[in-house]
Amino acid sequence: MFPLPPIFAFLMATVTEENYLKALISLADAEGKVAVSELSRSLGVRKPSANSMVRKLAEAGLVYYERYKPLRLTPEGRKAAALIVRKHRLTEMFLVEQMGFGWEEVHPIAEQIEHVKSPDFFSRMDELMGYPTVDPHGSPIPDKAGNFVKANHRRLSDCTGGQTVTIVGLAHNSNDFLHFLNDRQLKLNSVITVHHREAFDGSLTISYTGHQEVVFSKVAADRILVR
Ligand SMILES: [Zn+2]
Repeated sequence: MFPLPPIFAFLMATVTEENYLKALISLADAEGKVAVSELSRSLGVRKPSANSMVRKLAEAGLVYYERYKPLRLTPEGRKAAALIVRKHRLTEMFLVEQMGFGWEEVHPIAEQIEHVKSPDFFSRMDELMGYPTVDPHGSPIPDKAGNFVKANHRRLSDCTGGQTVTIVGLAHNSNDFLHFLNDRQLKLNSVITVHHREAFDGSLTISYTGHQEVVFSKVAADRILVR
């Protein structure tokens, strides 16, 4: 049988194969390399299983594979992986922005929806939200061609007294921090007015719907991306 061209191979990829591609793009070092041991640890599978799946992806033209050498995604593999990341991040944004889910709730749901094949489904999602460039956690959403475009958002901590800004994402997404924001009823698109910035420690006095003159530490304000 002729090997399928990579893009067709990707359209037919299984959930497991897609999770391998996603792990490879997220574990890649500056040169794009990933050790098989690292890959198997991150996916929670044994090394021989990881090896055989990676050989399958190599046959499909998505991964460069040489025995005992680190793995690397081919350009087609990288694009395929970036498009899964795109689906994941668009979904997280959609769940928070349009469906009212809490920031800390969306990751496991997006892990399932990212495997839906229909490109129309995600195009509609993108359109409904006005083509967002970051996900709720502040990570860039790759474009339709699979390019990661770095979004330059300001941090709340850079704002001075008198400014009114909108929350567009987070620079940090630990569960503790997400709960901290939920407790204070702050979410994506919340509009915040900064009244005063304390020169001594960088803390901010802010107001937003239903909350007047709340003091926010610099540590918290550093983690909030605004527009
Ligand atoms: Zn996630």
